[in-house]
Amino acid sequence: MQNVDGSKCVDDINEVWLKSSEILKEKLKPQIYSAFIKPLSISKSKNNSLNSFEIITPNKFYREHLEKNYHEIISKVISDVRGESNFSLTFKIKEQQEGDSNNKRVSYSRTTKIKKNFNKLNTSNNNRKPVNFTKDNSNLNNDYNFSNYIIGSCNQFAHAASLKVSENPGKTYNPLFIYGGVGLGKTHLVNAIGNASKRRGKKVLLVSSEVFVNELIDSLRTKNMQQFKNKFRSIDLLIIDDVQFISGKERTQEEFFHTFNDLHQRSKQIVITSDRIPKDLTGLEERLKTRFSSGLLADLQTPDFETRVAILNKKAEKLDILIPQEVSNFLAEKIDTNIRELEGALNRIQAMSSLSNSPVSIDLAKSAISSLIPIKKSSEITIESIQQAVASNFNVSISDLLGKRRTQNIAQARHVAMYLCRKLTGRSFPEIGAVFGGRDHSTAIHACKKLEESLIENKNLRHKISSIENSI
Ligand code: ADP
Ligand code: MG
Repeated sequence: MQNVDGSKCVDDINEVWLKSSEILKEKLKPQIYSAFIKPLSISKSKNNSLNSFEIITPNKFYREHLEKNYHEIISKVISDVRGESNFSLTFKIKEQQEGDSNNKRVSYSRTTKIKKNFNKLNTSNNNRKPVNFTKDNSNLNNDYNFSNYIIGSCNQFAHAASLKVSENPGKTYNPLFIYGGVGLGKTHLVNAIGNASKRRGKKVLLVSSEVFVNELIDSLRTKNMQQFKNKFRSIDLLIIDDVQFISGKERTQEEFFHTFNDLHQRSKQIVITSDRIPKDLTGLEERLKTRFSSGLLADLQTPDFETRVAILNKKAEKLDILIPQEVSNFLAEKIDTNIRELEGALNRIQAMSSLSNSPVSIDLAKSAISSLIPIKKSSEITIESIQQAVASNFNVSISDLLGKRRTQNIAQARHVAMYLCRKLTGRSFPEIGAVFGGRDHSTAIHACKKLEESLIENKNLRHKISSIENSI
């Protein structure tokens, strides 16, 4: 058979599709092609009719969208390639294969994102929404809720306690004291408590301890203490965020102590966040430390890899961006101590992707985060830089690391340093032993093995090591 222009017709359906998709690639915008055409395949219809074909799509959303918007162009291209327009084309959903349940989940979440992303491609307004604060006086951020808080082993306990408190303010754990490092979700969680309690009709007030301090100073200056007292004592739930900032401020602590007692005696709920446990809050009166510890202490740990990926996916959905799984894995691997940084990376990726009008890829992600986190090649990491980073993190000197002293802290720092040298520079055990005060290779092997064993059990150590790695 020949085409009208004399060229030979293509009969093999797979070859037809290969050629057709090449043409579609040229005709369509790159992001449309890679989002909608690339995932497709073709087959002959089951009814064995020679002129009936099926385009196989990943799921219902694709099928509907393609049918509605791309049927015509795909048919036209196929008919050009085949040199023959007498055929029927239908869109089918790919049948799930056994063991495909994971794919099913992934493709579902990708679909919603593709859908949103596609809608976004068709609208020019990519501006981010401003932070969504309530119009009342509670100072709550409406965007922070339990429904968008991802639970992992790192925050399970704090989340459960928060939920309980929001269901029954003042009746269960009072005060609830949530502590953890920067960007681990304290503010999100306490806003979630506040929003949920507010929905139950409770009067809520959230203030950072800095605001508390400033309002107190203002009230003292304007001699309006009664108003200050009324404001903080007339509520059902008081949330003080980042209480560590009242350390060393005696007058504030005095006032806070009375506010605390007043609310507590009347079974009003108090929720406090801090970057550390009460007993480590230097500059805080003993009586406040005792009060803070009298309810429930709940900590937030660094999220594990799976939780980081889940948080990323949730945030990407909110930002309406499509991020392929390999990109979320890459980001979650590289940014492992602070969720705020993870979010920052995502915002940057979104901006770069939309400015360059290209879909999110690993390369784009790499360049987006290169200024946030320099991705060092292993050749750039030296033994000296590792020793330096470990020494400063463990608060020991380099000569302690290389010397003979074996206090628990020094011995652990030495093991960590040897382990990181092995992991990050790939140097041999004899070399590592030699640069640690001329030790034998068996000492280096023992150190690495012992450390790997401790890492399985010891979450804090895992956290410590990843923050050292990030600082090198
Ligand atoms: P912190 O107050 O501990 O410094 P934030 O509550 O401000 O941290 O969290 C930083 C960012 O990370 C916020 O945008 C928050 O929504 C997000 N985040 C933290 N933990 C989670 C989580 N478990 N699920 C979803 N988002 C989270
Ligand atoms: Mg915070």
